[in-house]
This record gives sequence, structure tokens and C-alpha cells, in this order.
Amino acid sequence: MLTLTFLGVGSAFAKRNFQSNALIELWSQSPGIGDAPKETLLIDFGTTGPRSFDTLKNLSTHAYLGADGQINYRAINRVFITHLHADHIGGLEELSLLNHYKFADPITGEAHRPELISTPEILADLWSHSLEGGLGAQVGRRATLEDYFQLSPVTVDGSSIAFTMGDRYEFRVFPTDHIRVQSKYDWPSCGLMIIDKNTRRSVMYSGDTRIDMEGLGSLMEQADVIFHDCQLVNSPITVHARIDELRELDQSLRKKMMLYHYEDVWDSPEFQFVDQEFNGLAQSHHRYVLFDGDL
Ligand SMILES: [Zn+2]
Ligand SMILES: [Zn+2]
Repeated sequence: MLTLTFLGVGSAFAKRNFQSNALIELWSQSPGIGDAPKETLLIDFGTTGPRSFDTLKNLSTHAYLGADGQINYRAINRVFITHLHADHIGGLEELSLLNHYKFADPITGEAHRPELISTPEILADLWSHSLEGGLGAQVGRRATLEDYFQLSPVTVDGSSIAFTMGDRYEFRVFPTDHIRVQSKYDWPSCGLMIIDKNTRRSVMYSGDTRIDMEGLGSLMEQADVIFHDCQLVNSPITVHARIDELRELDQSLRKKMMLYHYEDVWDSPEFQFVDQEFNGLAQSHHRYVLFDGDL
């Protein structure tokens, strides 16, 4: 079984919800209360990630994320990064420092280094444009990204298998049309297709993207469930999928679409139509079953 729990479903600037990051869990069979998964994968870990974890660990469904009343970062095996906005990477400094010091092996002193998965460009820029400022200096030495993570660069073609969980679940990475500096796809950002090899059912996780039927239409049609970026409020520059554009999609797509990355106005009466026209707004801290069945 593979499950997904949103650490948050909010936009970059949301204050009533945490930012849009997700925790994927692999289970041998249906989880009972207090169980820990076989493997875990974070999809992004933004500025509000640590606060969200702190809340999540207090729920009986996710108690394995806590240890002695604190966040147990050792429970995280892998982190996938969709792109470099702070709502997707802003929690990595805390995760890295605690893994390096607090969660180091008590006998060998070796840091807990989760696998860090993304495109080669994002991995390079993540260090030199973002994390090196806070993580580059240690007492007596300079550090690199590999002091904190085991790096796994992946191909972004939407069709090859980038990585797997438990052999059964395949992850493919596709580029997203999020920020155009000059032209489409020229600033690295990506989303995920997750496929159950046994049943061929699939789930799409859009990452931050504008509506992109040309690039993503066939994946959207193929997917059984779509978690899609959504912007409720109009703004002069569009870098997300606007709700008025999403409403124009075919009903067959909308009905399997659960929207996330939404602003704090989600419960205003003017957005009541979302529940009727889509598969609803995704909720934080609820464990969604992506694929049923024992491993
Ligand atoms: Zn974002
Ligand atoms: Zn973004």
C-alpha cells in the first residue's frame, strides 16, 4: 500500500494552512494505529514543514514521526524536491542540521543522510543558491550538500522510471510550466507520476504549475487521481493553475482532480462550487490511500 499525507495544502503565503508539501508512505499492509511505514518519501519540505511535522507527530496516525516529544527526522528516508521556492525547500536547513547533529549515529557519529532526489540542475542550485549559506560552514571545516544527503539526480522526461518505492511503485518525473524566465520550462520545476506496477493505476502530483494541457494533458487523462496545483485568487502574473481555467477542463478530468496549493480564502462562499465541480480541496494531515494492496 502507498499513502500520501499532505503536510500542508496552502499557497506559499498561506497562514491558515501549512505550505504544500507531502509525505508518501510505503506499507507492507494496511497501517494500524502506532505503526511505522517501511519507507518514507517527502515531496518538498518548505518553511512551514517543521511546524507541520510538529503537529502531525501528535496524531495517533503518525506517531512514528515523534520521539521524546520532538520531531523524529530519522523516520524520513528520502526527500524529493520539485523546485527551489522557499515554500518547497525552506525546511531543509532544519532537517539537515538536526540529522547531522542530533540524529547522528550514537556509536559511529555518522550523520543521518536521507536520499535527496531531484533534477541535476535543481540539486546544484539548491546548494549554491539556497542551502550553502546556512549549511556550508561547520566548526573547523566547510561542508557540501553530500555531508547532509545522499544525492540522486533523476531524468525529467515524464516517461522513464526515476525511482521506485518497494519495487512495486514507480515514480516518473515531468517538467512543469511554473515560472517562465523567458520561455516555457526554462526554470527547472517538476511534478511526479506515481504508478502501481501491478495494477497500472496511476496518481499524478502536479507540483507547482500553470495549466499545461499541451505538456501534461495525456498524463492527466491517464491518471486515476490528480493532485493539482490551484490558485483561487486572480493575480496579474500567473504562475499557478487558476481556478477559472481549471473549471474549463473536461468534467472527466475535474472529477478525479483534488486541488491543493490554495490561498487562505478557500472557505469563502464564492468557492463553494469547488466541491461540486472537482474531487474537492485536498486536506492537510489526512492519510490518502494512493494504492491499496499488500506488498
Ligand atoms: Zn509553491
Ligand atoms: Zn513555486
